[in-house]
Amino acid sequence: MNAEIIAVGTELLLGDILNTNAQYLARQLAALGFTVHFQCVVGDNPQRLAQVAHTARERSEVVLYSGGLGPTADDLTKETVAAEYGDPLRFDEAEYKKIERFFRDCHRPMSENNRKQAMVPANGRTLANENGTAPGAMFVQNGRYAFLMPGPPKELIPMFEKEVRPLLQTMQQCVLHSRMLRVYGIGESQLEGMVAELLEGENPTAALYAKTAEVVVRITARAADEQAAQAMCGKLADRFYAILGDHIYAEGEQGMEYTVVRTFIDAGMTLATAESCTGGLVSERITSVPGSSEMFECGVCSYSNNIKQLLLEVDSGTLRQKGAVSPEVALQMADGVRRRAGATVGVGITGIAGPGGGTEEKPVGLVYIAAAMGDTVWVHRMLMAHRTRDVVRLAASQKALDMARRLALGLPMHGCTAHRLRG
Ligand code: ATP
Ligand code: MG
Repeated sequence: MNAEIIAVGTELLLGDILNTNAQYLARQLAALGFTVHFQCVVGDNPQRLAQVAHTARERSEVVLYSGGLGPTADDLTKETVAAEYGDPLRFDEAEYKKIERFFRDCHRPMSENNRKQAMVPANGRTLANENGTAPGAMFVQNGRYAFLMPGPPKELIPMFEKEVRPLLQTMQQCVLHSRMLRVYGIGESQLEGMVAELLEGENPTAALYAKTAEVVVRITARAADEQAAQAMCGKLADRFYAILGDHIYAEGEQGMEYTVVRTFIDAGMTLATAESCTGGLVSERITSVPGSSEMFECGVCSYSNNIKQLLLEVDSGTLRQKGAVSPEVALQMADGVRRRAGATVGVGITGIAGPGGGTEEKPVGLVYIAAAMGDTVWVHRMLMAHRTRDVVRLAASQKALDMARRLALGLPMHGCTAHRLRG
C-alpha cells in the first residue's frame, strides 16, 4: 500500500522546529512495508490544509497527519480532514469527561476551547492519547484512511505505537519483530565495513545507530506472524554474533552498567572503583542499577593527589615522577581501592577531560583506565582528541565498565597491557 505524511504547523514552515515526526513516521511506515510517495508540510491555514488533504486522499491510500489537534483556534486539522473524508464529527460525552479528568489531575483550569477536543469521528474512530488531552482520530472513506495524531512527539509516538501501528499491521496483514544488539569496542565506520553485507537486506532489515561510546544494531523483520518474524530476526542476529562475538555485550534498552551488575552477581564477584577525571560516573552508573548493592563495594572520587595517597595508597614518588595522569597511577588506584575495599575487582581511572589542562605530552582526552583482579592489573590508554568533556568522561566510564565485564567473564582484554603485582 502507498502512504503519505502531512505535518501541520506554521512553526515547521518557519523552521522554528525540526520535523522529527515526519522522520519517525517515515521510518515506521517503511518498516511496515508501506511505500511512502509524498511528505508535506503545511501551515495552520484551513484553505491550504483542505487543498493538501484533498490531494493526499486522491493519491494515497493511507495518510498520516501530525499536529494541529490542540484546543486553540489555529488547531484545525480534525475539522478540515473530517470534511475531506465526509465524516460529520459528533460530541462525545465520555471523551469530554476524560479531558476534564486530565485537567483536574494536572491541577490546571480547563477552558471552553477544550470542548472541541471532545468532537470525535461519527464514522471513523478515536485514537486514545495517554499523554495529553487531544485524542487522535481515524477517518476512512472507500478504503482510504487518514490517521490524525497530535504534534508533540511524546504524545505522537506512544499513540502511533499503541493505536496506529496495530491497525496498519492488519492492513498489511503482517507483524513486526525487532532486536537491538548493543556493540562496544568497534567504531561505527569499522563496524559498518565488517557487517556491510548484513545491512543490505530488505526483510529483515538491519541498521546501525551510533551512540556515544557504543553502536546499536537494530534488526527488524516483517512476517505473517510473530513466530516467523522472530525466526527471521534470529537468523540475522546469529550472523552478527558470528562476526562481532563478545563485542556484543547485551541486547535491548539497557546500557553496559546493567550487564556488569548482572555478570558480577552471577559470578559472585564484587567491584570497587577509584575515579579521578570521571568524578564518580562509573559508580553512578553502577548504583543506578537496582540490586547493585550485591556486587558494589565502594566508589572513591579521588580527585586530588592527596586523597589518592591517603585513601588509595598511591605512591608519592610515582605521583611526582610520572604525574597523576599516568598508567602507573591508574594501576595503583585500581589496586589500592580493591585492597581497601576487599573487592574482587578494582577499577582506577585518571585522565584529562578538558577543555583545559592539556599539554603536548599529555593532551586533553588522554585517559588511563586500570582494572585489577587476582595478581594482575590491566591498563588501557585512551586518547580521545577533539571531544567534549562530557564525551571523554562517558567514553572512559564505558571502557572501564567493559574492562570489568571482560574480567568477570574471562574474555580477552583488548588493547590493554598486563602488569603483574608484587607477590
Ligand atoms: P497541542 O495540543 O500541544 O497544541 P497539536 O496537536 O495542536 O498539540 P501543534 O500545536 O501543531 O500540535 O504542535 C505542538 C508542539 O508539538 C510544537 O510546538 C512542537 O513542539 C511539537 N511538534 C509539532 N509538530 C511537530 C513535528 N512535525 N515534529 C516535531 N515536533 C512537532
Ligand atoms: Mg496546537
